[in-house]
Amino acid sequence: MSDLVNSGNANAPLLEVRGLKKYFPVRKGLFSRVVGQVKAVDGLDFTLGRGETMSLVGESGCGKTTAGRTLLRLLAPTAGQVLYSPNPEAAPTDIFKLPAAEMRALRPDLQIIFQDPYASLNPRMTVGNAIAEPLLVHKVVSASEVEDRVAGLLERVGLRPDVANRFPHEFSGGQRQRVGIARALALGPKLIICDEAVSALDVSIQAQVINLLKDLQDEFGISYIFIAHDLSVVRYISDSVAVMYLGRIVESGTAQQIFDDPQHPYTRALLSAIPHADPSKRGERIPMTGEIPSPIHPPSGCHFHTRCALAEDRCRSEWPASVALGAGHQAACHLVQSAGTEEA
Ligand code: SF4
Repeated sequence: MSDLVNSGNANAPLLEVRGLKKYFPVRKGLFSRVVGQVKAVDGLDFTLGRGETMSLVGESGCGKTTAGRTLLRLLAPTAGQVLYSPNPEAAPTDIFKLPAAEMRALRPDLQIIFQDPYASLNPRMTVGNAIAEPLLVHKVVSASEVEDRVAGLLERVGLRPDVANRFPHEFSGGQRQRVGIARALALGPKLIICDEAVSALDVSIQAQVINLLKDLQDEFGISYIFIAHDLSVVRYISDSVAVMYLGRIVESGTAQQIFDDPQHPYTRALLSAIPHADPSKRGERIPMTGEIPSPIHPPSGCHFHTRCALAEDRCRSEWPASVALGAGHQAACHLVQSAGTEEA
C-alpha cells in the first residue's frame, strides 16, 4: 500500500495512516437488519511529519471529518492502522490496537479543535475552569498551580488572563476559538486535529487564528491535520494537502503542487471556485454538476464521473489507480499521465 501524502521526514513521521476505513451500517425494518454500509472513509493512506501541517480538504460529506475523528479513536475504526511515533527513535505504536488504559494515557498528545467551540464548551463553566479541567484530570499541575497555568495559556493565545472568570457566551466566535486552542494546548499535544476550526469565522479573524496556530507550531513543534472545505483557507498553513472525494483521497501532494499544478479534475474545480480579489488572477470557473452523491450508493468506476466534465466510458466502470506524478504528488484519474513508470 502506498503513502498518498509524504509530508516531510519520511524516516520518522509522527503519524502514518494506512488503509483507514470507517463504515457505518445502514439498518432497516423492525429488527434493524443491516442492509448496507455507508463507506464514509474508504482506505486512506498518508503520513504526517513532525511539526508539519497536512490539510484534508473536500466538500461537505466527503468523509474528512469522519477520518479525523476515527484516527483519534473518537469513532471506532472499521479497518486500518494509525502508527504513532511520539519519539523518532522509538518503534511506532498502532493507536487502534492500544487497550483503553493506554489510549487514555496517550490522549494528552492527541487533541482536537472543533468548528464550533461554543458547542464543546460547557455554557455553565467559566473558560478558566474549562481550561483547568484537563490539566487537573491528567494531573499535569497541582490545584495550587492551576490558576497560574491557565493565565499563562490564556495569554499565549492572545486573551487577557482576567477573562478566566467569564462564561463562553460572553466571548466572540474568534475569542471562543482561542479558548478552544488554549484548552487543546494545555496538555502539551504533539498533534492537533483542527476540524473546520476557522470555517465559521470572518475572513480577518480566520487569518488571526491561522497565524496563532502557525506561531504555536513554531514554538512547540505541534503537527496539525487541518480539515477544511475551503481550499483558500488551507493554502497558507499547509505543508501538504490531500483532496478527498466520497471517502477516498483523489489527489495529494505538497501545498505548492496542489495549488500551482493541480492534476485531478475535482481539485481543479475546487480551486477554480476560490474567489480572487485580483481580477487578473481569476481563472475560468470549472463547473461541477450536481451535489456530491450519497456514500451509501457511490457511483461505479471513478466516483467523480457523475460530475466530471471530462468523464469518458472507462470512468464509469474502472476505478482509477493513483498515479505518481513525482516528488510525492499523486492523483487518481484515468486522464492523468504518470511522471515515470511507477504507479501507486
Ligand atoms: Fe473525471 Fe474520469 Fe478522471 Fe474520474 S477518472 S476524474 S471521471 S476524467
